[in-house]
Amino acid sequence: MVFEGLADKLQQTFKKLRGRGKLTESDVSEALREVRMALLEADVNFKVAKDFVARVKERAVGQEVIASLTPAQHVIKIVYEELTQLMGGTQSRITISSRPPTVVMLVGLQGAGKTTTAGKLAHLLKKQNKRPLLVAADIYRPAAIKQLQVLGEKLELPVFTLGDKENPVRIAQKAIEYALSHARDIVIIDTAGRLHINEQLMDELKAIKNTVKPHEILLVVDAMTGQDAVTVAETFNEQLGIDGVILTKLDGDARGGAALSVRAVTGRPIKYVGMGEKLDALEPFYPDRMASRILG
Ligand code: GDP
Repeated sequence: MVFEGLADKLQQTFKKLRGRGKLTESDVSEALREVRMALLEADVNFKVAKDFVARVKERAVGQEVIASLTPAQHVIKIVYEELTQLMGGTQSRITISSRPPTVVMLVGLQGAGKTTTAGKLAHLLKKQNKRPLLVAADIYRPAAIKQLQVLGEKLELPVFTLGDKENPVRIAQKAIEYALSHARDIVIIDTAGRLHINEQLMDELKAIKNTVKPHEILLVVDAMTGQDAVTVAETFNEQLGIDGVILTKLDGDARGGAALSVRAVTGRPIKYVGMGEKLDALEPFYPDRMASRILG
């Protein structure tokens, strides 16, 4: 389970702290040193971990905490609040345009889970009484179009494709025309990925963006890749501009660093998390619930 290591370490640290009763400033400092170590071991970005602990410390060594009746509880509460803030504070939803169709463009590297996530997102939105259209704009990965069509069949949702000979910009454009004439209110575009970020990929994504002007560009990243996921998010945000992140494979044994660092490093929130391979395994991301899970 994600965050298992981090949760264990923090629980041990706070158990020791509780056992102390009254706290001195050095007790708090010692505990926060352990918190910092635990964050780094969970693959949290170095600067993010350092700043996090500094913020907690500033609040926790105040008179109020040291003098309170349950000082350890106070420190834990501050850590909980700061963890929640670190992950964006409140849940970030996707923008639904008042003039349909809402256009959502999914971007990301190959294998991150983009195509699967397109299906999951369509499923989630269908359950909210929306009428999604899936768009196969990944013309390079041979199986991508077929994969999306299979998902569409399972979900009983239309999949727009022009095969793999048309260029992705035109596919996206035509898909929006199709959505307008068939009363589909959300267009989910599955774009091509690459193994690594390169200029050709970015140019293609920029061309789609500039032509169809999506309401949401969501970057799909694999939580198992830890700090790499954060670097990928930073690069996509700088070069393309993203509105949010979907973090996949959080059901695996990812250490959780990406979930904790993405927002602070990129300024963009995590909007959904992938919790499995099945179509119903996509959940909105709630920073407060995630913080509770970490603190046990
Ligand atoms: P794409 O190349 O980005 O389109 O990636 P795919 O959608 O083909 O996904 C790559 C692999 O990751 C597939 O085997 C998916 O089933 C798997 N996958 C995607 N999301 C999740 C997730 O949230 N959890 C798990 N365990 N596997 C996932």
